[in-house]
Amino acid sequence: MFIALDDTDSTEGMCTTYLTTLILRKLRNKYPNLNTGMPNLVRLNPNIPYKTRGNGACWFHIDDNNDNNLSNEKKEKEKEMKLRKKDIKTIVLEFLKKYSLFEDENTNPACLFLDDKNFDKNFEILNKFYKKAVSQLCTIEEADETGKKINAEVYKFKNGRGIIGCLGGLGCDFADLTYELLVYRTEENFGKERKIDVESVFKMHELLYPETFDNVNEEEHKLVFMPHGKDPILCGIRGNSVDVVNKAFSMLKFREEISFMQIFRTNQHTDAHLMPKKISELKQYDAAIIEGTVIENPKRIEKGHTFFKISDGTANITCAAYGVTCLKNIAFNLVKEDKVRLCGGIESHKDTFNIEKIEIIELAKIYKKENPICPNCKIRMKSEGKDKGFQCKKCKLRLKNDTVRFIEIPRNLKQEIYEVEPGHRRHLSKQLCRYKI
Ligand code: ATP
Repeated sequence: MFIALDDTDSTEGMCTTYLTTLILRKLRNKYPNLNTGMPNLVRLNPNIPYKTRGNGACWFHIDDNNDNNLSNEKKEKEKEMKLRKKDIKTIVLEFLKKYSLFEDENTNPACLFLDDKNFDKNFEILNKFYKKAVSQLCTIEEADETGKKINAEVYKFKNGRGIIGCLGGLGCDFADLTYELLVYRTEENFGKERKIDVESVFKMHELLYPETFDNVNEEEHKLVFMPHGKDPILCGIRGNSVDVVNKAFSMLKFREEISFMQIFRTNQHTDAHLMPKKISELKQYDAAIIEGTVIENPKRIEKGHTFFKISDGTANITCAAYGVTCLKNIAFNLVKEDKVRLCGGIESHKDTFNIEKIEIIELAKIYKKENPICPNCKIRMKSEGKDKGFQCKKCKLRLKNDTVRFIEIPRNLKQEIYEVEPGHRRHLSKQLCRYKI
């Protein structure tokens, strides 16, 4: 049986991964022979307005076929399994009701149960829903319809929007995947400053990067693998394998007591949300890759936020690199006629494409005008006005307008991909250090 959960937390606390881990711990404790496997954390469209933080949904699978605590007799075994499934559902729902932050108007929990047969039979439907949920806006009605089509047992609370995440998460194909080892705090520390020995994290990073990534920001000598809010997570170690995140964990020195940890399989850092699109096809909340030519030189406003316009022949759009990330400087150095490929999406400003990565496909040549040098006096001549030629201040020699020289200015950008620095990246954004994978 597959069990999916979403939308249980708010900025005031909790986290769906924590609730999933609490449920798994309870199930493993009560049914030690039940195979609960590794839970999954699936990030969905980062641009949607309903998210608390990273728009993550969780699911896990329980496999009770190989439990030798169950009766050998077929009929008896089936009866026991049925009873246990019922009990598991009760536990999941009890935990969901107990821990979800119902008082927050933006928390609309849901959970679903789906048996293995219906999962296998309907995976294409689920995967189609995932592909939409990870890159576009979905409605609760669409999710309800999908839930019915696949015969899922659905539980929704308040407006039940969490059902979108439950179904989207379950449809993830993990075409590319990473792992995140989440370390949870003890309850009395929720909301307090997080305490980890900084140097132990840098040492781990030095040894294990790039197999584990986004733990530190080297330039600012800062830890970036800890959230800042009231949620129960102390830190999350991200990496390409279970081995590497376990090894990284063993190297850390914690300065506060930890409750427990859990590794999740995840679609984080895979660019799963980026669908190639024409600019004319873009809708609000889409995540996409667009390609085009810069048609307006960049403009910078307060805090360094930088805007420029590109066109791909179907339409044009304003693109934004915000002041908090280093991409603002890359964006500011673009000029008209540069060709770029941009990863990003549209959030609340429906006419602005927020950039996650900039790939320079072609750099336009830029020139500066240089007045001619006087052949007699060897000094630079002065312009006589627009199209009026040049004159030497000393010997008064006059030269025609076409003696002006155009000097190519070297560009301070390269034909490469520029990304946001660790700490500011979206959960789904694939790091350049993962590009070979
Ligand atoms: P956390 O990462 O801490 O678990 P969160 O950022 O995942 O929090 P949620 O509390 O899960 O935020 O809220 C996200 C809500 O948006 C959920 O109700 C989810 O079902 C819904 N949702 C997810 N993807 C989409 C989508 N593509 N379109 C519309 N709604 C979506």
